[in-house]
Amino acid sequence: MKYDIAIVGAGVVGASIAYNLIPYDVSVLLLDKNNDVAMGATRANSAIIHAGYDPKPGTLMARLNVEGNRLCEKLCADLSVPFKRCGSFVLAFSDAEKNTLQELFERGVKNGVPDLRIIDAGELREMEPGIGEEAVAALYAPSAGIVNPWELCLAQAEVFVRNGGTFVGNAEVTAITKSNDAFSIETTNGEFETANLILACGIQADSVHGLIAKPDFQIVPTRGEYFLLDKSEGSKVNHVIFQCPNELGKGVLVAPTIHGNMICGPTSEVLKEDIEDTATTSAKLAEIKTKAARSVSNISWRDNVRNFSGIRANSDNDDFIIREIPDCNGIFEAAGIKSPGLASSPAIGPYMVELLKSSGIALPEKSGSYDMTRKKIHFRDMSNEDRAKLVASDPAYGRIVCRCEGVTEGEIRDAIASPIPPCSLDAVKRRAGTGMGRCQGGFCGPRIVEVLLAQKEDTSPLSILQDAEGSNLFFTRETEVES
Ligand SMILES: Cc1cc2nc3c(=O)[nH]c(=O)nc-3n(C[C@H](O)[C@H](O)[C@H](O)COP(=O)(O)OP(=O)(O)OC[C@H]3O[C@@H](n4cnc5c(N)ncnc54)[C@H](O)[C@@H]3O)c2cc1C
Repeated sequence: MKYDIAIVGAGVVGASIAYNLIPYDVSVLLLDKNNDVAMGATRANSAIIHAGYDPKPGTLMARLNVEGNRLCEKLCADLSVPFKRCGSFVLAFSDAEKNTLQELFERGVKNGVPDLRIIDAGELREMEPGIGEEAVAALYAPSAGIVNPWELCLAQAEVFVRNGGTFVGNAEVTAITKSNDAFSIETTNGEFETANLILACGIQADSVHGLIAKPDFQIVPTRGEYFLLDKSEGSKVNHVIFQCPNELGKGVLVAPTIHGNMICGPTSEVLKEDIEDTATTSAKLAEIKTKAARSVSNISWRDNVRNFSGIRANSDNDDFIIREIPDCNGIFEAAGIKSPGLASSPAIGPYMVELLKSSGIALPEKSGSYDMTRKKIHFRDMSNEDRAKLVASDPAYGRIVCRCEGVTEGEIRDAIASPIPPCSLDAVKRRAGTGMGRCQGGFCGPRIVEVLLAQKEDTSPLSILQDAEGSNLFFTRETEVES
């Protein structure tokens, strides 16, 4: 089959593009080299929907950040994705940093960020009592928010598939050739033909671009490490708390997560060798502790539940690169989608669709109906009354499997029956929210393995993955038999 459009890369950017193509009568293929969607930067970031005072006025990044922030609330409501407009502060620790606040304020006003204001230390402490003693003022941005980033990606990809789109995982694109009016895409999971191609490859954007033409930009993969602290710490802050930006980026933040934890980080380290190395290091984690303590003084680091890192697709270009690749008709790219790429993503999909149209790609509107919404049960967020009704209608929602997060058997069953079924323990976690709590899956893991096994044709436990291909949970001892 020849597709009208193939999208390479199923992060939040590829998923947003796929989602925004649903209203059009075109066949769309979404490919990723990993076994699930949201396996790159999209699953390991600060999860902030930035207000938009940071990007330089006049850039595409400034425009898409503010627009993405504006669109996020409705998009999340349509897709049952948890989102909270909690607001953010940028702290100044000195009079010199107050000047930086003023610069950010003016930039934000130019970018169209609503309701920005600079507040003094008194008002700051009234709004956020746990703020460190050194803070003398802050830039307050009420429109900033927090989201579940992988669920935002997953939800759009699921709705895309439910509306007839195709997702193929484990399909690393290794070659792209043009033949007559089509592109042939060679992958590690078969060959595909498409009339048009969109690349949304995160930190691999320059190397995948290089399969077609010499890239005129370079990705500078920059790792950021984090602490994720228990829910006991999550209630210590109500807003996203940034420090004044410096030459390394936005500095270390302290923020509540949408699941009620506290997140601290990220660091900034350019990766020169293995650009996909998501290790964490004691040196960088120590750096976070020192820096974060300036923002919020009473963080209990003993309540750490997880450390992780993500890799930013920074580039040697100051702006997002979203365009039809020069001299490559029919091939488009969204490259250098660094932070605020998550916040901008709800606007990147619509922007790419407009770009396709203005480049003459035929996008006839569907004549039949389609549904761009998703209903999802988040049991723990429901009122007791609603929970009782749900359990009465389906007792599986009355059986808690993940005790830390209060996730029910019904929700795990829903995850397994979703349009992009989970293929690993972590894929169930991304869909149902299991294993996210204090025990990190220690208790619910074995039960979820049982549920996964019951669904699979290959019922051998040896096939069960923790996460990516090769992360098998169980092994047998192999015996060599002499012939
Ligand atoms: C530490 C950190 C903190 C951040 N914090 C924030 C924040 O708070 N707010 C914000 O707005 N943004 C933030 N960002 C940025 C945001 O996470 C990214 O901009 C966004 O996730 C980019 O999405 P993407 O789809 O472009 O990339 P990705 O999510 O990386 O997706 C790219 C996909 O392409 C696939 N791929 C690559 N090569 C191939 C190939 N050859 N064949 C097939 N598939 C391929 C990969 O497997 C991957 O799934 C942060 C990023 C990091 C790393």
